[in-house]
Amino acid sequence: MKIGALEAGGTKMVLGVYDMEGKELERISIPTESPEITMPAMIDFFDSHQVDALGIGSFGPVDLRKESPTYGYITSTPKLKWRNYPFMPQLIRNRKIPVGFDTDVNAAAIAEAELGVARGCEDVVYVTVGTGIGAGIIVHGQTVHGLLHPELGHLLLRIHPDDPIPQGVCPYHGACLEGLAAGPALGARVGGDARDLPDDHPSFAIEAYYLAQMCVNITLTLSPEKIVLGGGVMQRQSLLAMVRAETMRLLNGYLQVELITNHIDQYIVTPALYPVSGLVGSYLLGKRALEQSARGSL
Ligand code: ADP
Ligand code: ZN
Repeated sequence: MKIGALEAGGTKMVLGVYDMEGKELERISIPTESPEITMPAMIDFFDSHQVDALGIGSFGPVDLRKESPTYGYITSTPKLKWRNYPFMPQLIRNRKIPVGFDTDVNAAAIAEAELGVARGCEDVVYVTVGTGIGAGIIVHGQTVHGLLHPELGHLLLRIHPDDPIPQGVCPYHGACLEGLAAGPALGARVGGDARDLPDDHPSFAIEAYYLAQMCVNITLTLSPEKIVLGGGVMQRQSLLAMVRAETMRLLNGYLQVELITNHIDQYIVTPALYPVSGLVGSYLLGKRALEQSARGSL
């Protein structure tokens, strides 16, 4: 049995094939262009490997309601060619195989909770801080969908008093979390690319303030056992310690929980599977779908 996995991103698609034990047999990456160009390439890949099931972790927003006529569609994305696109149905159009479908960040959260840094945790939040900010949320072992799915990247925050671009860059909200703290916001703040900044650049104190507010809000609303911070911006090692310290400062001793007061380094962590958390999670979605369909046909 072979499981196909797809981590569908706004800039690239990462496709993998796994055996049932989770061994990666092949992985390719192709740029996300229009559906006319990108879809046939992906269908060919999974067809040529004769996968028995498929797991998809997708950029969004997506329709995750199984009973919906547009289940598996990408919905109101600003990427116009993918807007209201029947993504999952088109991918399995030729071969009716079991399919698991969730957001890219929920897939990453599943991977970290099952095989990565949050192994054994029932309640986990995985946040990617990259070109955008998004979060996958697991509560009682289940990914949260709710009405749509969480869009934590657009939380509203307090502005840092020294922020040179307090208006933010989100096209919808200006100064939301993503508009203040994703990679492009960091870049806009310094008039360049965030990758080129030295670790001690003052913009990182501002960045840590925003990411710490996010961690506080996550802690207070969802009470997870771990917050996993991934994505390109978190590749800046020095930032993690700043976010932990700032989270403690903002909580100001309110939560007397051993893990937070004495072991914040085990509470706010970086992913073990980065950069393939989302792909591995997609594999797990596919595997679960296969197992579920096998149980159903007994
Ligand atoms: P995507 O979100 O598109 O999948 P990434 O997670 O790799 O991609 O995030 C890309 C963003 O992360 C860019 O805005 C980039 O400037 C920023 N970034 C990458 N590495 C660093 C770094 N070491 N320090 C600060 N920002 C970084
Ligand atoms: Zn926003």
